[in-house]
Amino acid sequence: GLRRGSDAFFLHPRLLGGLLLDGFDQETCHSRYQSAMYRRNSGRQPSSYLISKLRRQEALQRRCGPGTAAYRNAVEQLRSGESVASPECKYIVSISYCGLGNRILAAASAFLYAVLTDRVVLIDPSNDMDELFCEPFPGTTWLMPRDFPVAGYTNFSVDSAESYGNMVKNRVVRNDGAGVSTAPPPALVYVHLNNDYTDHDRLFYCDEDQRLLRRVQWLVMRTNSYIVPGLFLLAGFREELGKLFPEPDAVFHHLGRYLFHPNNLVWGLVTRYYEAYLSTAQKRVGIQVRVFGADSNSPELVEQITTCTQKNSLLPEVLGAGSSEPMTLPASGRRNSTAGPVTSLKSWYYERIRSMYWENAAAAGGGGGAGGGQQPSHEEYQHFGAKSHDAKAWAEIYLLSLTDELVTTGKSTFGYVAQGLAGVRPWVMQKPWNRLADQPCWRDVSMEPCFHRPPYYDCQLKRWADPGKVVPHVQHCGDVSWGLKTV
Ligand code: GDP
Repeated sequence: GLRRGSDAFFLHPRLLGGLLLDGFDQETCHSRYQSAMYRRNSGRQPSSYLISKLRRQEALQRRCGPGTAAYRNAVEQLRSGESVASPECKYIVSISYCGLGNRILAAASAFLYAVLTDRVVLIDPSNDMDELFCEPFPGTTWLMPRDFPVAGYTNFSVDSAESYGNMVKNRVVRNDGAGVSTAPPPALVYVHLNNDYTDHDRLFYCDEDQRLLRRVQWLVMRTNSYIVPGLFLLAGFREELGKLFPEPDAVFHHLGRYLFHPNNLVWGLVTRYYEAYLSTAQKRVGIQVRVFGADSNSPELVEQITTCTQKNSLLPEVLGAGSSEPMTLPASGRRNSTAGPVTSLKSWYYERIRSMYWENAAAAGGGGGAGGGQQPSHEEYQHFGAKSHDAKAWAEIYLLSLTDELVTTGKSTFGYVAQGLAGVRPWVMQKPWNRLADQPCWRDVSMEPCFHRPPYYDCQLKRWADPGKVVPHVQHCGDVSWGLKTV
């Protein structure tokens, strides 16, 4: 039970039901408390257990984070190469790798693992990870200081001698079953959970090995996937995860809204677009078209998007059959308007779809109301005027997350982050060769990201096993059939 009197304050919408702590400096991070005003979907309610664990984690991060005596000690111990029997603070460092969606999902995964194992999480600041977000924890930083004594740790790979898989393979560590090997554990272990991980690396997803890893003071992790469904496979974490997330289909939803707040630069991009195009629209539909540079522009994909959105009544039917003429929305379009961001690396899709819907919807829905002559043009939105590619990508992910309905491209971590933050189950488009002819898109079973490379292994029987058969709320994904997601 919560104390009466504090409830109203605690449950203020801007604090996302207690997920966020009050009292951060608002100037340094406008999005933290403002974002709730931009969302129609207030999202799922976090469990009080999750809230209390987050407050504990914040205290741990403050006590052990960079700049503290505990951190200096831990770095000193690492430098001296000796391992400590019961270290005061333990750490997990998440390497920032691959595209922005991958990096966000890796950081969220590392954070949850830290919460489960009483570790401090530190994020490798490379690849712009120090230029996109506000600090999530008050009074400390989650960014790994650049003077970390393990030079080149961001280059750890499947071949590194420091990896857990290679240590097991080369018998540098031995697991005697209880996880209590007689030799002291190494001071630092690299866990390679990338898509190219080996059978030995895969032991990370075994309880015995977790017992050993628990004793290691410094872990460094690389993944380009969302490993959280893999954590649900571990018996040792199951009960705790159940208490933290009584709704297992909302894990990233809570982690994402807790951790990832656009910094003021990105927030400026988000809010300017929002005011111009989304603020007065009655319905907001985001469309994410993931294409690759080498792909040729595909009229078939535009057709697929059109069929998907119309069949499911996401967008008004503005085109007469067979017509390619853009049609005007009714004059009352302002009240009935639909608007939303179309994100894609290629402006061609954006232009095609906009010429069908958006010009009118935006003009009717947002053009009149924004005022002040501050509206960016569509073209400015495409180029954004910001230097950083990642800042634009992050702003676009965030804008997608402010919509009521989402149409995404399957398999894309960019879309996964948007749907989780939004709290909506997306309409997922499959590649043409992967879909039924009459099904341009389908409604996903949950808003959770898909874990693309789960372990197919039974740790007890030491043989192949289907990880989709271990617990009922961890199932195979619709977009990546061998992947796993919580539902
Ligand atoms: P994934 O590859 O689809 O899983 O998504 P990632 O975010 O991990 O990597 C794709 C990268 O390509 C992003 O980080 C962006 O830099 C870029 N990108 C892909 N789609 C878009 C888009 O719609 N808009 C912008 N601005 N960038 C995109």
